[in-house]
Amino acid sequence: MFINGEWCQAESGKKFGVINPATGEGIGDVADGGQVEAERAIQAAHSAFGDWSSMTAYERSEILYKAYKLMSTRREEIARTMTVEQGKPLRAAMNEVKYGADFLLWYAEEAKRVYGETIPAPRGDQRFIVLHQPIGVVAAITPWNYPASMITRKVAPALAAGCTIVLKPAEATPLCAMEIFKILEEAGVPKGVANLVTGSDPKPIGEEFVTNPLVSKITFTGSTETGKLLARGAADQMKRVSLELGGHAPFLVLKDADPVFAAKGAVLVKYLNTGQACICPNRLFVHKSGVEAFTKEFVSRVIKMRAGNGLEQGINIGPLVSEKAIEKVERQVEDATSKGAELLCGGHRLMDDGLDRGYYYAPTVLSNVTSDMLIYREETFGPVAPIIAFDDDDDVLEMANDTHYGLAAYIYTQNLSAAMRTFEGLRFGIIGINDINPTGAAAPFGGQKESGLGREGGHEGIFEYLETKLGGFSV
Ligand code: NAP
Repeated sequence: MFINGEWCQAESGKKFGVINPATGEGIGDVADGGQVEAERAIQAAHSAFGDWSSMTAYERSEILYKAYKLMSTRREEIARTMTVEQGKPLRAAMNEVKYGADFLLWYAEEAKRVYGETIPAPRGDQRFIVLHQPIGVVAAITPWNYPASMITRKVAPALAAGCTIVLKPAEATPLCAMEIFKILEEAGVPKGVANLVTGSDPKPIGEEFVTNPLVSKITFTGSTETGKLLARGAADQMKRVSLELGGHAPFLVLKDADPVFAAKGAVLVKYLNTGQACICPNRLFVHKSGVEAFTKEFVSRVIKMRAGNGLEQGINIGPLVSEKAIEKVERQVEDATSKGAELLCGGHRLMDDGLDRGYYYAPTVLSNVTSDMLIYREETFGPVAPIIAFDDDDDVLEMANDTHYGLAAYIYTQNLSAAMRTFEGLRFGIIGINDINPTGAAAPFGGQKESGLGREGGHEGIFEYLETKLGGFSV
């Protein structure tokens, strides 16, 4: 753990093991912190807040820029740690480290653009001035699926705004988090400004985050269930909350789309991180005129995918995170096929060639999927693509919106009016139009409905860490 500028162990002396999900082998032991360490880290962040928030934006920016340079230089090293710890193929890990570093660069710049406002006042002898000030101590919790970028997406805007932070990474991926905190330390982040608390049991740490009055803001990325739990806890003290939660992305291939082009995109984004991304499509709606061509192209690409250890060349499918993740996928596939879905490929765990040591599931395609199946409603978080044919572009908008999630959605069409109408009608926060990667440090990322609150990235991202203050002056 990294608390008050020092690397330390848990007070109890306990550690927990980190496993390579590709091989089941242990790859390290990490300090097993809990409530005591979380409290200590919050106290350190509180003590550091005054000095850090008083530094100029230029000084904070310079430190973030150094961190960006260090992360960029260490791109391959961090990517290798990520592949071994989380399982994604090395190329994908390299992409993630770059994406993660981009947040440090972007917020090094945005630190200098926290502009206030003057507003015409109703009285002649009055002046209104609005300024934005850092919220205070931020407590952050991040998931395992993007173990570097989900951290910098929170730490960079928080530090740029002048806040201090305590972060708890996922139990499965503390090693990537440690790499990032080493970078922050080397970049010159003063002691107490950024603290890392690792632990195998998230509950006491989360509990301390929501109940400690020194914490002003909770920022969380993970499941909707945990997000709700934290938001309920934070409500007691009216702490500010931002939440990046689960998704159930619809992928719409409209009547005027090129179904082959759409299938190429759909395969890339569906199997991104072996389906373990919150923006992965979970329902592929294809107009009946193109469904045959789409499905043929889609399946022909999926059956060529190779599963294995992400450090090997040519691997596109890594392991799932755990046995529980395999069970969830198995349950959804069994449920769908028992209710009439057709299994076009995959549909089973991969056990040959040493894959039985990891959590591998074959990339799977289901057709004839209907709304009574679990997969139509539940987030899969695995490599299963459910295809649903539809008759009418107007109906599909309603079908796509029929979910309590609202994170990402995709539209494929060559018709500009249809693209615009559907873009406007979808109740989702991030929409790709003939595009499968509508993300970047400069773009606001976040969901509607039960997919979350607030935005990360973009110029919006820094406002999650700022309070707005109005001054009314009589002159
Ligand atoms: P999760 O179980 O909610 O875990 C996420 C984080 O919360 C982990 O650090 C976890 O710690 C911690 N946690 C779990 N229970 C907690 C509690 N009671 N109190 C405090 N912290 C707690 O989610 P996950 O299954 O790891 O992550 C996948 C989910 O994240 C998916 O639903 C995905 O869609 C979502 N996600 C969303 C975005 C987005 O930007 N919207 C991005 C990536 C992922 P442990 O690891 O120790 O359990």
